[in-house]
Amino acid sequence: MTVRGLRWAVTDGPDGTAAVELPGDDAAARLLEEQARGGFWCAREAGGCGGRLEVAHGPLPSFRHTGDAPCAFVRRQDAAGAAYDPLRYRRPLVAWLTAQGSAPRIERAPWRDDHPGLHVVVAGVGVLEVQLAPLPDTAWRERDDRLRRGTPSVTWLYGPGADAAAATEAGVRGAALVLRRHDRGLLAGVRDDGGATRWMRLGACRLTVDGLDAPGLAEARARHTRRSAEREEAARRAGQAARRGRRAGTAPRPPGDEPLPFPFAG
Ligand SMILES: [Zn+2]
Repeated sequence: MTVRGLRWAVTDGPDGTAAVELPGDDAAARLLEEQARGGFWCAREAGGCGGRLEVAHGPLPSFRHTGDAPCAFVRRQDAAGAAYDPLRYRRPLVAWLTAQGSAPRIERAPWRDDHPGLHVVVAGVGVLEVQLAPLPDTAWRERDDRLRRGTPSVTWLYGPGADAAAATEAGVRGAALVLRRHDRGLLAGVRDDGGATRWMRLGACRLTVDGLDAPGLAEARARHTRRSAEREEAARRAGQAARRGRRAGTAPRPPGDEPLPFPFAG
């Protein structure tokens, strides 16, 4: 594996969130350099040092710190991609919520836990939990319970790294919301309990006090509820039929039934 060095930076200051990835080709890297007139910084919001970065040109261009402040990304350059990932979702998410008249607050710094993502609080409305890394089933349930104790409106949005967690929620609630970057914006998807996903621009969805209002979401949940009820009803009928059959002596005992005493004395 070729170690390319640091490839991530922000262009809007040490506390900025406008993340850019340096192209792998030097001519394209020069073009990006021309476009980013203000220069590049090592993003504090991604866990970096906030220092100035410059482009080290060559066949495999990379960013280089201009100072020698201690920085997590000097030794662990390969960690920058995952650390900058939440920033690339953050700007379009904040723009989407702001356009709805909300004032979102990003509460938890993404690099401080094992699950890179965003915890977005919209006062008076609810929270958005953006999950970008794999999350085991038990951890999903634990966090979901904890979040719901604090606010009734919790909306999970799952990035490409969190497909299994999306499947977990879809299995429990009939649908899950998935999120993908697309050009500079975001696409949202309603994934149903069968694994089918209906995609739309995030702008087609609204955050309400009841959670995200997305086309097709209520229908997917209703289908799940109806199918669950049908399955329960089918199981109930099968149980009744088995009991009737047993009384008539025509059906075998279902497993788990108490065995009859045998042989009968008489
Ligand atoms: Zn740095």
